[in-house]
Amino acid sequence: MSALPPHWRPAQDELKNKTILITGATEGIGRAVALACARLGAEVLLTGRNEAALESVYDTILNEGGRTPGLIPFDLRVTQHEPYDELAETLLAEGLAIDGLVHNAGVLGERRALSQTSPESWQEVLQVNITATFLLTRALMPLLERASLASIVLTSSGVGRRGKAFWGAYAVSKFATEGYMQVLADELGGTSSIRVNSLNPGAVNTRMRRAAYPGEPPDSNPLPEALTDNWIYLLSDASALIHGKALSAQG
Ligand code: NDP
Repeated sequence: MSALPPHWRPAQDELKNKTILITGATEGIGRAVALACARLGAEVLLTGRNEAALESVYDTILNEGGRTPGLIPFDLRVTQHEPYDELAETLLAEGLAIDGLVHNAGVLGERRALSQTSPESWQEVLQVNITATFLLTRALMPLLERASLASIVLTSSGVGRRGKAFWGAYAVSKFATEGYMQVLADELGGTSSIRVNSLNPGAVNTRMRRAAYPGEPPDSNPLPEALTDNWIYLLSDASALIHGKALSAQG
């Protein structure tokens, strides 16, 4: 199901007064979504592990006249829950509410048969792509509850909806993402104004796509900037009734 209603375009101030946390904001889709959110008036909380890249996104937002972003260096390979809880406590102490949470960060891992996949790679992919999603959402729930209409956007993939050989831990992590979305959506439905959906970006010209398909001409796929309205829609109040859906940004 397509995420974006036909002809929907964000208003110039579509995300004003909203605070949106984006994981993996240093490059690719996360960077593009962060910049798009900031251009539409949001305060963005940028998380990523590469501090120089985070600072570059921060500088771009300020140079474009956006609201001062939050910079949160954070490595999602961290397996213990405490650092996630401490991050949430810091944001709570600042009096913040989180209106939008974009779980975007992801790693590809090894493109090989499951029987050939190293346990180390399996664990890293599952940790970054789904366990960190659980830990961060769990920690940030009080901040999401503070917002009037919070939206959680999980990043899926075509191989998280139909299994495909040699996509290994990555595909399994994306199936888990879909499962996580469905369980959380069912728990929240009727009891909370927080909504949660998954979004499959489709093929996008980023570092990850180029690594997955080294023989493919990069410009055969759109740049992330061409697709950001999908995320904007799901983060805006225009999608207030969209909940528990597995959506696609292309096709
Ligand atoms: P990129 O590789 O361009 O970006 C991935 C982002 O995740 C980077 O910001 C990266 O930061 C961050 N990240 C990776 N590992 C960690 C970590 N341990 N801690 C914190 N941040 C981390 O990929 P895309 O932009 O293409 O992918 C974004 C999302 O979209 C992913 O979830 C991916 O699975 C999904 N997707 C992408 C598709 C595509 O065609 N591009 C298709 C389908 C789904 P760092 O610079 O530090 O590595």
